[in-house]
Amino acid sequence: MRTTEVLVVGGGSVGLATAVFLSHHGVGTLLVERNEGPQAHPRATGIGVRTAEMLREVGLAGAVDAVALDWSAGALGRVRARTLADLAETAPPAPAVPRQAPYSPAALRGPCPQNRLDPVLLAAARERGATVAYGTGLVSFTQDEEGVTAVLSTGEWVSARYLVAADGVRSGVRAALGVGLTGPGALTEPGQNILFRADLRELVRGRHFVACEITDPAAPGMLVTIDGEKEWVFLTALDREPAPALIRAATGVPDLEVEILSTLVWRARAQVAEKFAQGRVFLAGDAAHAVPPLGAFGLNTGVADGHNLAWKLALVLRGEAGPALLGTYDAERRPVASLTMEQALVRMSDPALHWGQGPAAAEARARAGALNAPVVHLGQRYVSAAVIDPRPEPPSAEDVVACLDGSPGSRMPHAWVSEGVSTLDLVRSRFTVFTRRSGGAVWTAEAARLGLDAHAVDLAEIPPGGALLVRPDGYVAWRAEGAPERLGGVLDRLLARGQDG
Ligand SMILES: Cc1cc2nc3c(=O)[nH]c(=O)nc-3n(C[C@H](O)[C@H](O)[C@H](O)COP(=O)(O)OP(=O)(O)OC[C@H]3O[C@@H](n4cnc5c(N)ncnc54)[C@H](O)[C@@H]3O)c2cc1C
Repeated sequence: MRTTEVLVVGGGSVGLATAVFLSHHGVGTLLVERNEGPQAHPRATGIGVRTAEMLREVGLAGAVDAVALDWSAGALGRVRARTLADLAETAPPAPAVPRQAPYSPAALRGPCPQNRLDPVLLAAARERGATVAYGTGLVSFTQDEEGVTAVLSTGEWVSARYLVAADGVRSGVRAALGVGLTGPGALTEPGQNILFRADLRELVRGRHFVACEITDPAAPGMLVTIDGEKEWVFLTALDREPAPALIRAATGVPDLEVEILSTLVWRARAQVAEKFAQGRVFLAGDAAHAVPPLGAFGLNTGVADGHNLAWKLALVLRGEAGPALLGTYDAERRPVASLTMEQALVRMSDPALHWGQGPAAAEARARAGALNAPVVHLGQRYVSAAVIDPRPEPPSAEDVVACLDGSPGSRMPHAWVSEGVSTLDLVRSRFTVFTRRSGGAVWTAEAARLGLDAHAVDLAEIPPGGALLVRPDGYVAWRAEGAPERLGGVLDRLLARGQDG
């Protein structure tokens, strides 16, 4: 029997990222994926700012940026044209030059489709000590008070302390647990996602776009950028033949050389699992929640699941936290998934709610109940026993900076503390105390006594004479007005020390 601390089932982007986060925290991790290698057919392309922050935390910002598309000179979001050739004939609207957001230290130079992201995650997981086994499916599992016993398609048995199911929208683990789903479910008829190779460089020169809606009746669909040059995806109805002629019609180039690489049948879904954990088994990514693609929230929300869970599992496995800490995974991630699903749904009815900039777009979002995308990614707040006095609602639908105000349950505010070093970088995946530059000595002494890192920084969100206690995932656990002597007790409470699971 093979043993591991955590068995991750599924090697999509979420399973791989979870393996990276777990091994970053020193957790023994075995990931099993039934396919023979990483997924070659990408679905997600948009990597959000919060995901970029998590990659930065584990030292992968540079590696992912290096494989992201270079759109640093600017790009368009979603555009519309009869054919791609028609788009090429119009004067390109001035592309918005992407700039580093003032609220985050992390920024990718452009999209990073999954077929570029996953190999980086795979290498990083292995470098950090995780075992990733391809061609290895989970067949069945049982759990008891001690752990999980799993049977693999190779005939091997695995004994794990915990199991993370990142096995996708049709999660067999979720089904085996009997966990139901909430939400409308399938939203559209099945469509197809055609991955093809064709040199479209001349047509898109100066007009990089995330997606181009093609309206020509001969080939209606959505052209999505994969490498921005020779690799593309065309999303269209299932009754269209996935052949070069279809791509020629969509691009408006009758003699275009086209190689169809693969097709994927999919349908937009909106569903959230009724619970994200049962006993020692946790659901993450599409296994826990599936959201329609508009908004580019699915993968990003899934990666954040793994990030939220990894530090908790690590501390419980090391005996530094009580098992009840793991109950905060469902309490924190399920509401985020539900709100994210609502936000993706509202965008389906009007994509301009997502892409629109400026006051008119903000007003339209306010009327429709849509949050600005950065607020969906970064402005949501955790309410759980791992936060003292949480503040539930994002206080602004438009302004993410207003959401990142140091409130308990929010992602701690970013400020540069020295060249290239953010307040977030100081967290180093550990509980960390932040004080103002004056009046922090007593906090620093108390933090040192408890073995915590402490930093004095210029951050207006820290109460004078008080402190922010930040969790390993960069979220504010406690905003203290004073009383450093309470720090140890607060930590015991946050970590559910002395409590049963
Ligand atoms: C058209 C489209 C565009 C999208 N665009 C974006 C975007 O821009 N940004 C974004 O954030 N999201 C986007 N999404 C959503 C995103 O693609 C998904 O949320 C994400 O890929 C889910 O990843 P996952 O790892 O949870 O699941 P999956 O990628 O489905 O991976 C699950 C894995 O588990 C494996 N598996 C299943 N059962 C077993 C078993 N028993 N044993 C071993 N392995 C098993 C499967 O083989 C699979 O590899 C898009 C989705 C679509 C359809």
